[in-house]
Amino acid sequence: MTDHSANANNLSSNNLSTSVASTNSSVKIAIIGGGLSGLFTATLLERAIAQRSTQAHNEAEASNSVNTQHPQITIFEKSRSVGRLATRYRTDRLTNQNWQWAFGAQFFTAKSDSFAQFIAPWLQSGLLQPWCAQVVELTPADGNAEPIISKKEQWDTTHARYISSPKMTSWGRELADNLTNSSLKFKTRVAPLSTEHHQSTDQQTELFDELGASLGYFDWVICTAPNLQAIELLADSGFCKQAQISQAKMLACYTLMLGWDKVSMLPQTLQNSVAATTTPVWDVAYPQQSILAKIFVEHQKPSHSELLPSVTIHANNDWSEAHVNDDLEIIQAQLLVAAKQALNWNNDTAPSQVDCHRWRYAATVINKGEEGLGVLVDNDRHWIVSGDWCGQGNIESCYLMAEQVVEVVAAALSL
Ligand SMILES: Cc1cc2nc3c(=O)[nH]c(=O)nc-3n(C[C@H](O)[C@H](O)[C@H](O)COP(=O)(O)OP(=O)(O)OC[C@H]3O[C@@H](n4cnc5c(N)ncnc54)[C@H](O)[C@@H]3O)c2cc1C
Repeated sequence: MTDHSANANNLSSNNLSTSVASTNSSVKIAIIGGGLSGLFTATLLERAIAQRSTQAHNEAEASNSVNTQHPQITIFEKSRSVGRLATRYRTDRLTNQNWQWAFGAQFFTAKSDSFAQFIAPWLQSGLLQPWCAQVVELTPADGNAEPIISKKEQWDTTHARYISSPKMTSWGRELADNLTNSSLKFKTRVAPLSTEHHQSTDQQTELFDELGASLGYFDWVICTAPNLQAIELLADSGFCKQAQISQAKMLACYTLMLGWDKVSMLPQTLQNSVAATTTPVWDVAYPQQSILAKIFVEHQKPSHSELLPSVTIHANNDWSEAHVNDDLEIIQAQLLVAAKQALNWNNDTAPSQVDCHRWRYAATVINKGEEGLGVLVDNDRHWIVSGDWCGQGNIESCYLMAEQVVEVVAAALSL
């Protein structure tokens, strides 16, 4: 059952103690974070549990004793929706059409066989689609010189980049809806763990929310918060791999979102159909010598043609990190200057919609050839620290880390 509305804040400590005492026999697993790492982990755990219970059921039927106790999974998410997959939209009152920006991850890869297999049902249903984008390099305007746009590559289906439709958040919602043995508690921020919260006798951990209300006792606690938040959550907990959490480094990213009222109002650089003779048709641009890193044309993505012209721009991570504490209005103004140089609009072709978002923890720094940390396990406390930053810092890593978590828990619980 997926409980999107329930808020664990309204569960009193007494209620939980009673319920823990009365249902002590079923294993309880807490997942901190309802981003893709948390959702993949719950999905794979449910699959492992289902597989094991079918097997156990068959064995029990043979011996005439059926035990129906399933591990219970609870996902605690501090925000109202799923993680760093993020879609913002705005509706034009005149046309009732939307501008839409995937202002977190734009796409993902599935290079590993297991992840490719995992996503196959959603590719079949059309919720996930390959994005065969035309990619260009773009040298912004300089003085009187126009921007230079040159073809780089076309993404193909062999090394595909995938998007989720109609929004980047749609897949996360679908994963949450498909959970059958887990409850999802949105708007519930788990407070930092401390040494007293863990009882070494029964290896259970009591979690609390930020107001100090108990969230219950858990046999396993899996933290999928972004790196810095994981450091804070476990700082005084005695977690045996604390030093390793601090090894990972994440950089910020500013995202600029632009919208135009009509395709005919777009600047020449974005007039893909008309400008084919002078400018290559493009969906994704890598600006050169700019504080901008990538420009994405949203309304040209598969199944996005009903959108009003919408463009999402990610700033360079190093620049974003250097300005991470600056005033957001000043940042937006700086990004607009850079975007104007890249897209070369004038007063008639300037965007009518402008928005800016700051991601404090956007990109994991991975040195070339490095594998990533892998999930961090404290076997004494039954705590696991996971998240994209334990791998390569992308959506595929969320899945690969979820696989690692499930391997550890399944082995411990003999699933
Ligand atoms: C700007 C940007 C661009 C990106 N581009 C790409 C891309 O092109 N391709 C790609 O594959 N990936 C990309 N990524 C990375 C991708 O978005 C992440 O890898 C993925 O979303 C991470 O998922 P996660 O579940 O590990 O972390 P998150 O999505 O951050 O989820 C962790 C969750 O934990 C919650 N949380 C934290 N602390 C607590 C607490 N105490 N209690 C309860 N909940 C808590 C947070 O609210 C959050 O929802 C991009 C990310 C950003 C920001």
